[in-house]
Amino acid sequence: MDPKLYNTLTRCKEDFTPIDAHNVRMYVCGPTVYDYAHIGNARPVIVFDVLFRLLRHLYGEKHVTYVRNITDVDDKINDRAGRDYPTLPLNEAIKRVTQSTAEQFHKDVAALGCLPPTLEPRATEHIEEMKTIIERLVQGGFAYVADDHVLFAPSAMDKAGGSLPRYGALANRSLDEMIAGARVDVATYKKEPTDFVLWKPSKAGEPSWPSPSGIKTQGRPGWHIECSAMSWKHLGETFDIHGGGIDLVFPHHENEIAQSTCAFGHNVMANVWMHNGFLQVEGQKMSKSAGNFITIHQLLETDTFGGRTWSGEVLRLAMLMTNYRQPIDFTVKRLEEAERILDKWYSSLLDRDIKPANRLDVSILQALNDDLNTPLALSHLSEIFRSYKGTSVDKNAKGGDIRDDEWAAFALANANFLGLCLMKPSEWFALKEGSIEVSSEEVNTLIAARITARTTKNWAESDRIRDQLVAMGIEIQDGKDASGNLVTQWAVKR
Ligand code: AMP
Ligand code: ZN
Repeated sequence: MDPKLYNTLTRCKEDFTPIDAHNVRMYVCGPTVYDYAHIGNARPVIVFDVLFRLLRHLYGEKHVTYVRNITDVDDKINDRAGRDYPTLPLNEAIKRVTQSTAEQFHKDVAALGCLPPTLEPRATEHIEEMKTIIERLVQGGFAYVADDHVLFAPSAMDKAGGSLPRYGALANRSLDEMIAGARVDVATYKKEPTDFVLWKPSKAGEPSWPSPSGIKTQGRPGWHIECSAMSWKHLGETFDIHGGGIDLVFPHHENEIAQSTCAFGHNVMANVWMHNGFLQVEGQKMSKSAGNFITIHQLLETDTFGGRTWSGEVLRLAMLMTNYRQPIDFTVKRLEEAERILDKWYSSLLDRDIKPANRLDVSILQALNDDLNTPLALSHLSEIFRSYKGTSVDKNAKGGDIRDDEWAAFALANANFLGLCLMKPSEWFALKEGSIEVSSEEVNTLIAARITARTTKNWAESDRIRDQLVAMGIEIQDGKDASGNLVTQWAVKR
């Protein structure tokens, strides 16, 4: 069963057919390592992790290559290094910044339940490949040298025509429009305002390499060329899927396509271009100046958002509750909702030593095969958990006629497939205890409501409240007092 994927290039959902089903190849633009990754950066990592998991399931674990790069050469990195380590030589300072930031990124995304990609190439390890592509582009008449820079000329690409794609096809813009709309303060070395940098000179002390195309001064690559070089090296001239956030469509991905197709003479770089929608915080664009800028690290380890810490799984589920192409409004309410769902799932796995089953629910797979419809997949998963509630055998359950532990193993396998319920339930509740203070008042109110439910024989309601209490890490013991009235003792489970 091949999936359907929405392709930004064609603007429709298409049947996906890999070029080589024995090696399905996907490239996703990774982080520029100069600072903690923010929760917006977490979105492509989570979205494409779900796709990676799906592709591994469909084509086999060994038959999928997922490349997510690390950009470790960039002006922002240089600025940061100079600021954080003013006494060190710049190159040494840069090494420290990129190393520690990359390590933190790995820690953060592991906490979000993301598998490591198959390969994680670094830009600085692919300078030779970048220079090879640049030389080809200059020789082919697509790029030119000016003022120790090498610039790509989209107009040359459009003039060449032939089997090359049209510049602007991905972003759905015409070159004329772009030229007309270009800013006036265009660098003097550019022939056209839309020409973009492939290579530029380095200032003294900045990272630098011998330049291509006969340039005598040392220089460094532009941003776009990195991804053309790393995808070429690890996935070939043409591959299956290229992904990233929607902001990368133009200019970054448009320019990657221009570079790679002109250098290799193909009409496509990647067959399918996938882009996740943007994330906002409490209805506003996230930015440092608006004071609503949240890093993954802050969310997991500090009380910056909602006055408490959150588990990585909560953030993951909160993301997957929205279709990847839609914008997300990230709110405390949404995290609380995700947490309540996980509480329910974990509480029904509690006190069992369950290993995930070896099969997956067909409707979950169908939902994911339909352009990664994670909200639908999650509602099927909720149904699986719900259908078990209170019965040891349920012939109508999603998994068919299966019993307790088999059912739990089936539910767990499906949750794990989505990168959820990866902890032991006891760990989950222990972690929560650390992050939430239990309010006695809230517990007493729930206990009173449950006693009322039991007195009126509303068993469904009394069970629901019991589950809620268990999910909060509360142990309860029912009894009667001397006059025969129902009483419930409670304690925080340690
Ligand atoms: P950057 O480090 O800014 O190049 O971003 C790394 C990845 O995160 C890219 O795929 C971006 O498109 C994505 N990204 C950045 N900000 C957001 C956001 N607010 N919402 C969703 N994705 C984002
Ligand atoms: Zn890229």
